[in-house]
Amino acid sequence: MLPNPYDTAERKAFRESFRAFIAKEVDPHKFEWDEAGHVPWEMHRKFAALGMFGFGIDERYGGLGFDDPFMRWDVSVEIARCGVGGIAAAIGGRGISLDPIQKLAAEEIRERVLPEIISGEKGSSLAITEPGGGSDVARMKTSAKRDGNHWVINGSKTFITGGMESDYFVVGARTGGAGLGGISLFFVESDTPGFSRTPLARKQGWWASNQATLHFDDVRVPATNLMGEENMGFIQIMQNFNYERLGLVGQSLGMMEACLEDSIAWAQQRETFGKPLITHQVIRHKIAEMSSRVDAVRALGLMICASIEGGTMPVAEITKAKFFATQQLEYCAREAMQILGGAGYLRGNRVETIYREVRVMAIGGGSEEIMRDLAVKMMGL
Ligand SMILES: Cc1cc2nc3c(=O)[nH]c(=O)nc-3n(C[C@H](O)[C@H](O)[C@H](O)COP(=O)(O)OP(=O)(O)OC[C@H]3O[C@@H](n4cnc5c(N)ncnc54)[C@H](O)[C@@H]3O)c2cc1C
Repeated sequence: MLPNPYDTAERKAFRESFRAFIAKEVDPHKFEWDEAGHVPWEMHRKFAALGMFGFGIDERYGGLGFDDPFMRWDVSVEIARCGVGGIAAAIGGRGISLDPIQKLAAEEIRERVLPEIISGEKGSSLAITEPGGGSDVARMKTSAKRDGNHWVINGSKTFITGGMESDYFVVGARTGGAGLGGISLFFVESDTPGFSRTPLARKQGWWASNQATLHFDDVRVPATNLMGEENMGFIQIMQNFNYERLGLVGQSLGMMEACLEDSIAWAQQRETFGKPLITHQVIRHKIAEMSSRVDAVRALGLMICASIEGGTMPVAEITKAKFFATQQLEYCAREAMQILGGAGYLRGNRVETIYREVRVMAIGGGSEEIMRDLAVKMMGL
């Protein structure tokens, strides 16, 4: 593997400490947590102590006081290498609501809740998708009507990661007319009367995390819980997608690396037709192909991080990387499963969990089709 030209001593130390933490605290329990459908809450606090939720958040709110796209990238890659995607979702799910809270919430809310979320004491979620659809954000139906000093929210959200455990929610709701110009964001606490939730059970993957349907039945929140400007929610939601999608690209890479490593390890020790599997040309070619795709996704991710560090959020490239990386992951998961043969089909190995979690990477955070539409639009076509 080529050295990362953007690496520094601090980034290397951060990455290595994160990897060591996963090996010690996560690897021995990950399949047990996956089967149980739950990551113990103390793990949120332990992950938080590494600083992973503090990027881009002011120190006065408990954040790190600096941002580093490469360290964010390393978090995504390293946590995904464990092979149980539900752990990244359970722990990291709060990440997509943190930026809007810091940038858009009232100061009183920021001061009160950000330290709790960043320290892993409490959870937070972003609630955009509705039972009627997720891709077409501009058509969301959940409504918020102004009533004196309050907003009254009605409707429902679904597939919300962390939804069963989170205390705080950033919720998209219609405050204006039809279309993208009528959407606003709200801060909603789980103990507000009229708020309830039901779990989404029996998922294909991401077992270790919880997803919920949220119900809003005349949920009254103070007027100050409007986040940012009224009717500007759509653009805020779109901007927030950038780091979420880049995180999914990083996670795809971590899973691809896991597939490659486990394929090589298995092919070296397995014998078929009187010789090691690794000596069969077909298998060697599969491994070469997987390795080249790992290199390509890694290079693309690092270029994107360099652009962000240089001050430009490369929206088009992130969009393209999202569908490109998840397709490469799909390839690697398939080939790894094939190389492991029947052993790959048994529970309790990374290839099996990754194979089940490919689709959520290609759908969540903006599906392949929507990413392609957006990419070609950004090409001016
Ligand atoms: C495990 C999991 C966790 C999630 N976590 C969250 C969360 O925390 N918060 C949140 O808000 N959402 C979350 N989501 C929802 C996710 O963002 C949506 O599933 C996704 O945006 C797609 O929306 P949809 O499922 O409603 O599909 P739809 O919008 O109904 O689309 C169905 C299919 O049609 C395709 N399609 C749609 N429109 C077009 C078109 N114009 N042309 C071609 N194809 C099209 C889509 O690509 C998709 O493949 C999660 C989803 C999953 C599965």
